[in-house]
Amino acid sequence: MGICDDRVVIVTGAGRGLGRAHAIAFAAEGARVIVNDIGASLEGEGTDMSPAHEVVETITAAGGQAVVNADDCADWDGAGNMIAQAIDTWGRLDTLVCNAGIVRDRMIVNMSIEEWDAVIHVHLRGMFCPVRHAVSHWREMSKAGTPVQARIVNTSSGAGLFGSVAQANYSSAKAGIATFTTIAAAELGRYGVQANAIAPSARSRMTEEAFAEMMAKPESGFDSMDPANVSPLVVWLGSSACDVSGRMFEIAGGELTVCDGWQRAATFDKGAQYEPDEIGAIVTDLIREAPQPAAVYGAQ
Ligand code: NAD
Repeated sequence: MGICDDRVVIVTGAGRGLGRAHAIAFAAEGARVIVNDIGASLEGEGTDMSPAHEVVETITAAGGQAVVNADDCADWDGAGNMIAQAIDTWGRLDTLVCNAGIVRDRMIVNMSIEEWDAVIHVHLRGMFCPVRHAVSHWREMSKAGTPVQARIVNTSSGAGLFGSVAQANYSSAKAGIATFTTIAAAELGRYGVQANAIAPSARSRMTEEAFAEMMAKPESGFDSMDPANVSPLVVWLGSSACDVSGRMFEIAGGELTVCDGWQRAATFDKGAQYEPDEIGAIVTDLIREAPQPAAVYGAQ
């Protein structure tokens, strides 16, 4: 018995890295899995279906059930096709894990509009399109009186929560995913849909060069940066056992943290309109009262 027996799960970007580990972990817990991936380069170029096929072969060799989906998750019709494939193949959809991603790192002063658009497109649109199609399906079921225990697991990043130098495009997309998730939880609970997000840390082609030392596999002991360490959380968030919604979880190895978003940290109310030259002193007091913001990754 697994905690996802009878569930049908889609994992986007499941050909490599974290998505691959999630797909294998879901299948090991009894889920039937749609392994979505276009096999793009780290920068989002080209296609190669061999990684997605390898994941399906790994799952089926272990006695699990999985099929490949080759749609671009950021394409509106492609995302619709992916949701339809789950329902056509196994008659249902229970969990959507939005994981696909790319990077095009550059300092803001050097970033091209193409680098900005490509990253925003894959992360934000690549999350919204499948979510939008999935929630249409779940709302229809809920309105027809069929019980729904649907789960959305979105992938944000520490870069989105705290900011990361040379990743303004990526961090902005990941911050958007974090806020989207809280709104999805607030809007969709009435249909039986829970939405949570993760900010993972693991070895993949996205991180193994940029953070080589931190990501290196130790010669012995706990390999904390193995992507498989992130998947148990994702599987639980994607299961009917999950009883939280609208939350952000940071996970790195065995370290699991609940994160919190923007908060009102200090407030002063004059009860009337300010003069511009009054503002400085009030801001000084408010900043003294408020906790220090978390440092931006990579800032000096
Ligand atoms: P990865 O490059 O190994 O995997 C990303 C996968 O997404 C690739 O297989 C790629 O082909 C696929 N993909 C890209 N565009 C796609 C599209 N339009 N449609 C379908 N598939 C597409 O990287 P990873 O590290 O496993 O990253 C997975 C997710 O985790 C990403 O969203 C990433 O931003 C996020 N993340 C990773 C880390 C980390 O430490 N590795 C940290 C924070 C966030």
